[in-house]
Amino acid sequence: MDRIGGTARTILAAPSAPDAPAPQANMLPGVLIDGVQWTGHSGFRVTVGRATIYIDPYRVEAGPAADLILITHGHYDHFSPRDIERLAHPDTKLVAPAAVAERLAGDVTSIAPGEALEEDLVRGVGVRALAAYNTSKRDAAGDPFHAREAGWLGYELNVLGERLYHSGDTDVIPEMDGVAGVDVALLPVSGVYVMTAAQAAEAARRIAPRVAVPMHWGHHIGTRADALAFRRGVERSCGVEVRLMSPRAGVRRSAPLYFRK
Ligand SMILES: [Zn+2]
Ligand SMILES: [Zn+2]
Repeated sequence: MDRIGGTARTILAAPSAPDAPAPQANMLPGVLIDGVQWTGHSGFRVTVGRATIYIDPYRVEAGPAADLILITHGHYDHFSPRDIERLAHPDTKLVAPAAVAERLAGDVTSIAPGEALEEDLVRGVGVRALAAYNTSKRDAAGDPFHAREAGWLGYELNVLGERLYHSGDTDVIPEMDGVAGVDVALLPVSGVYVMTAAQAAEAARRIAPRVAVPMHWGHHIGTRADALAFRRGVERSCGVEVRLMSPRAGVRRSAPLYFRK
C-alpha cells in the first residue's frame, strides 16, 4: 500500500467510452458540473477527459471502468467491495482512509484528513482529503455515527482548475471553510446520520459553491422531499444554484443527468 508521497504512477487514460466527452471539454470554465453524474446515494462518477473517477460507488449497475476510486469511509453504503470489484481494472487507483485502505488490495493509497496527494493519480486531477464527522448525530449509546477520531473523509478534487467537494457523511463542520468557493459541492441531506436538509442548506451558504447537489437520499434513507427542502433552504438563504440529479444516472446512461429548476 502506498502512503502519501509513495510511488504512485501517473495513470494513463482508460480506453475511450463511446460517449466520452472530448479531452479538452473540462478545460472550459464552469463545465466540471457537466462531467459529474450521480450514481445514487452518495455515489458519483466524474468524467475528466477520457478518465473516469468514482466516489463512494454503491450499487452502480453500469458505466465505464474506473481509473480512480475514492472512498470516504467504511459504512457499507459508501464502501462497497462489490462495486469496487465490478468497476476496477488492474491499474485502477484506490484512495481511502486507513481503516478502509487496509481492507483493499491493489494500487491503494491511504489518506488522512488534511492530507493531499502529491502526484496526480489521474492526470490533471488533484485530490485532497478533508475531515468528515458528526457533531450532533448520535446513536442510542450516545456515540456519534461518524466520530472525528475515526479519520473518515470528505474529498476535494481539483479538476483541471475547477474544484469539487464531496463532503462524505458529516455535519456542518468548521473544516468546510477550507472548501469555500468550490465550483461544485456534493452535500448529504437525509438527516439522521448526516446533515438535515436545513443544515445542508447552511453548509451551502457557508461554502458558497457555484453549484450544490444534494446526495444521501433516494436509497435507504432520505427522500426527494429532503432534496427539495434543501433546494428551498438554499434559495432562501443564498444565491447558490442547486441541481437535483437523477438517481438513475448510474444505471441508465441515456437518462437525463439532472432536473433543472
Ligand atoms: Zn456513514
Ligand atoms: Zn452514509
